[in-house]
Amino acid sequence: MNDNYLEKYLAVKESGIHGKGLFSTIEISAGDNILAIKGEVISEEECIKRESDGNVYIFWNEDSYIDTSMTTDIKYINHNCDFNCDVIDNDESGLILIAYRDIKAGEELTIDYGYEEIYEHCQCKSCAEV
Ligand SMILES: [Zn+2]
Repeated sequence: MNDNYLEKYLAVKESGIHGKGLFSTIEISAGDNILAIKGEVISEEECIKRESDGNVYIFWNEDSYIDTSMTTDIKYINHNCDFNCDVIDNDESGLILIAYRDIKAGEELTIDYGYEEIYEHCQCKSCAEV
């Protein structure tokens, strides 16, 4: 896994989807590493406890649970059913945000949060059009 992350080209701005969002200031190609998702690595048990406390900043993938509430960027990423980013496992330390498709400069970065409740009240463009 290379270390060429694009984190320095990200900006947090007001989002058309919800609150603040994470935006790219440059063009990103599909498959590029955008950001290493770091934070407090927690157990599944602790994850369930914190989620029921209303912490919405937890990322998980297989066996990795990361509480990103102390970060300044990744915690602002919004859900979109027509997402442009994906979260994959990093062998050693947690998770990586990658580009799922080509992303234009100025575009908001989004992922599929992947839990049931998000789809019920989703405000994203693809849901609004249905
Ligand atoms: Zn949606």
